[in-house]
Amino acid sequence: MGLRLGIDLDGVVADFNTGWITAYNDRFGADLALEMVNSWDSPVELTHFPDMPAFWAWARDHGGVSVFRYLEPYPGALDTLQALDRAGHDIIILTAKPAWAVHDTLGWISDHRLPMRAIHFTEHKHTVACDIYLDDAPEHVRALANQRGSAATVCRFVRPWNDPTDGAVDIHDWDEFHELVKDREEVVTR
Ligand SMILES: [Mg+2]
Repeated sequence: MGLRLGIDLDGVVADFNTGWITAYNDRFGADLALEMVNSWDSPVELTHFPDMPAFWAWARDHGGVSVFRYLEPYPGALDTLQALDRAGHDIIILTAKPAWAVHDTLGWISDHRLPMRAIHFTEHKHTVACDIYLDDAPEHVRALANQRGSAATVCRFVRPWNDPTDGAVDIHDWDEFHELVKDREEVVTR
């Protein structure tokens, strides 16, 4: 039986940090490195932007497209999602991206032929019922664990900008997530 897999994009499938750092270095002659991103507030801590609204004002427009248009997928992400799709699972994309990023996000998904059955642009991911969730944002992992933890498996994709969360399972890479889905599938179909 196929499971509903609620999959976040940025920080999970799409390498948002490498994307904005590369664009920032190119634009401002800076020398930021990916290893410097170690907190949720890094875009402000590492740049000249005074706050996140100022960062987003820059990130949303690079010659007519946003920073979300040309991100690289993380290693293993697409292969694993394709394998899970072939295995009969429903991939439900759950992303909290702002309204101005919707079309660039859909373009990015199309470019990469990301297998999926639905997409929700929402800050309230727990309102979308799934069997397994995979997210990297501290606030979303926490909310999903609190709201859906008794009915679903909530996974934290371990990144430098998040911490262990009560009720969430730690996932370190896409192979580990693939194994977790297979294990859950066996439990459900037994
Ligand atoms: Mg994310």
